[in-house]
Amino acid sequence: MFVKRDHIESLKASLSITLVAERLGYRVIRGKIRCPYPGRHAHGDRTPSVSLSEEKGLFNCWVCPDVRGDVIRLVEITKNISFPEAVRYLEEEFKPWDVSAQPVRAREFYEPPVPENGKVEKKEKADPAKVKERSEIIYSFLKMLSPIEENTPAARYLASRKIFKKTWQKMLLRVIHDYPKINSALLELYGLEKLQGAGLFNDKGHLRYYKHPLIFPYLDEDNRALFFQARAIEAGVEPKELNLRAANAIPYNKKVLNGEPGWVYLCEGVIDTLTLIDRGFEAVGIPGVKSFKHEWVHLFKNKKVVLCLDQDEAGRNATAVIRNLFTGAHIECVVFGEGITPHFQMKEGQDINDLFRGKRS
Ligand SMILES: [Zn+2]
Repeated sequence: MFVKRDHIESLKASLSITLVAERLGYRVIRGKIRCPYPGRHAHGDRTPSVSLSEEKGLFNCWVCPDVRGDVIRLVEITKNISFPEAVRYLEEEFKPWDVSAQPVRAREFYEPPVPENGKVEKKEKADPAKVKERSEIIYSFLKMLSPIEENTPAARYLASRKIFKKTWQKMLLRVIHDYPKINSALLELYGLEKLQGAGLFNDKGHLRYYKHPLIFPYLDEDNRALFFQARAIEAGVEPKELNLRAANAIPYNKKVLNGEPGWVYLCEGVIDTLTLIDRGFEAVGIPGVKSFKHEWVHLFKNKKVVLCLDQDEAGRNATAVIRNLFTGAHIECVVFGEGITPHFQMKEGQDINDLFRGKRS
């Protein structure tokens, strides 16, 4: 069986080694799993010796010199099968680009949005090949980015918003560290036409995020990012945020909408959402005040929702609209600050982040 190298690379890039390990039956405890050869370890490797690196997509046993490698190797060793068989297993088990093979909950990301005015328009069918290509490009772009390091402009920007390291890490925030390198690496991999088609490159032929280096991936329940938002960190750059086309097709931090009973805080914008996540709230975000989609209501099943949109006219209008949608779907819904002490309510012009960092509007 002939396996193309770039196919192998994109397959690997699309997979979380943690997810693969779990699918193979390992219990992942603090980024470690038990060695597939427990007999070589004291106590059958009761305290796991194999580290997983999500960042690098690699595993490494601290005892066995031959137990290390990438996701494909992990499958080979665990199932005692050959390389091509392991590749085939992963393709069968995880079909990230094959929309038709994805579970229904993933497929909904790609459905064209229902028109807000309720008019039935001719339904445009998403071309699976195009969707697959775009997802692949997004994954490989995100893989090229760097985690945020302390004492960098991105870190200082986030700290000024009182959003701290544990949250950068948890939400896999990324930064474009070397713009020219990423720009040319993407061009080399995909060519300009595909990159423009995916919305990553502008008409001039450059990666769009020269002034928007801070990247917020929109993670789904499997911690995969299908979309992202890019943000400027220098003052004065307008617009402050760049959304990928169709980037609002899922709410930010969608995975808290897991169908289990509980409160969830619905925020306007990624920064407000991160503000609450940083403080331990279960929060989801909509990219902008008008971007809540009717078809998202069902995602909030079993949740009680606190609406935390900005305290301005647009925010209040959207709050009324969204509240109606939830009430209509029998989802309990309250507005942030209603009925509580006035000093913990947003003042005119404030948003959640302003409130939590004590900024006066
Ligand atoms: Zn071992």
